Amino acid sequence: MSHFYHWKEMRQDESGIAQQFASDNYAGICPEAWAAMDSANYGHATAYGEDAWTTRAANAFRELFETECEVFFVFNGTAANSLALASLCQSYHGVICCDASHVETDECGAPEFFSNGSKLLVAPAVDGKLTPASIRELATKRQDIHYPKPRVVTITQPTETGRVYSLDELGAVSAACKEHGLSLHMDGARFANACASLGCSPADLTWRSGVDVLCFGGTKNGMAVGEAVIFFDRKLAVDFDYRCKQAGQLASKMRFLAAPWVGMLESGAWLKNAEHANACARYFAERVRKLGNVEVVSVADANTVFLNAPEEILAGLRLRGWRFYTFIGGAARIMFAWDSDLKRVDALLADLEECACAASAAAPVNSRT
Ligand SMILES: *Cc1c(COP(=O)(O)O)cnc(C)c1O
Repeated sequence: MSHFYHWKEMRQDESGIAQQFASDNYAGICPEAWAAMDSANYGHATAYGEDAWTTRAANAFRELFETECEVFFVFNGTAANSLALASLCQSYHGVICCDASHVETDECGAPEFFSNGSKLLVAPAVDGKLTPASIRELATKRQDIHYPKPRVVTITQPTETGRVYSLDELGAVSAACKEHGLSLHMDGARFANACASLGCSPADLTWRSGVDVLCFGGTKNGMAVGEAVIFFDRKLAVDFDYRCKQAGQLASKMRFLAAPWVGMLESGAWLKNAEHANACARYFAERVRKLGNVEVVSVADANTVFLNAPEEILAGLRLRGWRFYTFIGGAARIMFAWDSDLKRVDALLADLEECACAASAAAPVNSRT
């Protein structure tokens, strides 16, 4: 009992910060995922994925993707990406990715580690997108035995800079892969946001566009934890369960990784959450465009807006308590989660406007435009 009351007090007084837009990982768990976790918490269930929740979640994915795919549940996106990539290549192979990709910049070498040395072949890219030309260039750069043999292409949808590959762009990427005998992996840490942005079916955005393996992010979509690795080419999934186990990614109480997916997919929350986050990003970007001194760096296709603003404006925002990251290309990343509250978005906009006005008033007359 004392534990319970302690927790209740914490919830009211200590834990949690006011809503921020630094990362979609700052958000909590959405009601649909939470309710499914709660439902899974009655009685006992078989361990290691041999339970009804895991079967039901895998079947919900098969229904969503309209195909008999193979589905695995892991704890996070780094594991999902690196194990999926490892299953697509041998240690002497190369994985073509773009310079801004999470696998290259944010996974601490896990793809190389889990594949026992497959080399990431990095293409410079605009908006975080690989193009057929950049794929061709890396795929044909070297043919000799001294260079790792290109075997896989990985793309991020939406990209790390918040852009979405259109179906045409995806088709072109996939055609380049086929031309050069490369498998196609999709890092879909925010896959739901791409579906919401394009308004097309998950099937069209993946296997019908030539994607062999998708890592579908649950965490940023509103779950506590968990990503699904989905093999559309089922041959590629052979022994993937062993790979997960060896990597420490086989949950013994698997039902708690699987049940939230049941809640997300069966209720449609996966798409509703993403649509809301994307709508908040569009709302924010439209209003920022009306401010002087602050520039929206690129189109907000999904749930991210990047701002270019003089340092004094960004410092002003930080002083007012706002958190955001500037590690991607120096721009300030404003990221909208499934639970973004428009009142907080408006509060951020009001502070941004004040900081922008203060900055232009303080600027020497001859530097004003
Ligand atoms: C968040 C994210 C991931 C997953 O990161 P983890 O912290 O390992 O869960 C993967 N790819 C992209 C593009 C991401 O933004």
